[in-house]
Amino acid sequence: MTPQAFINLIVCIYIPLLNIIFTSFTSGVTMGMFKYLTNRTLRNKAGEEKGKIRIVVKADSDTAEVDYVCPECVHSEHTEKPWERPFSVKCSKCGFVMKLPKMKSEMKKEVKAASAKT
Ligand SMILES: [Zn+2]
Repeated sequence: MTPQAFINLIVCIYIPLLNIIFTSFTSGVTMGMFKYLTNRTLRNKAGEEKGKIRIVVKADSDTAEVDYVCPECVHSEHTEKPWERPFSVKCSKCGFVMKLPKMKSEMKKEVKAASAKT
C-alpha cells in the first residue's frame, strides 16, 4: 500500500465519523444550552397584567439574566442576579417585588416530593 492510498483510506473512514460526532455534539449543546428559561406576565397589586418578566439561566452558569417590566410603575430594566428558587426581583424604581409564579407542573413535582418525604 502506498502512503497516499493509506491517507485516502484514513480520510474515507474519519470524515464521516467526525461528521457524526460533530453533529451529535452540536445538537447536544443546543438542547442543553439553558438551565432555565421563562417568559411570564406579571400582575400588579390591583391584579392587572401590566408587567412581564423574562429569565434566562445558561446551562453552565448560576446567574439569571432578567429582563422585566414592572407591573406597578412600568419601569423596564435588564439585570443579573444569582439564580435561586424561589426567585424574585425587586423593581429598582418603586421597590415592587416581582415573584416568579410557579408553573403547575413544578407545583405538582413539589407536592409529590413533599408527600414522598412524609
Ligand atoms: Zn416598579
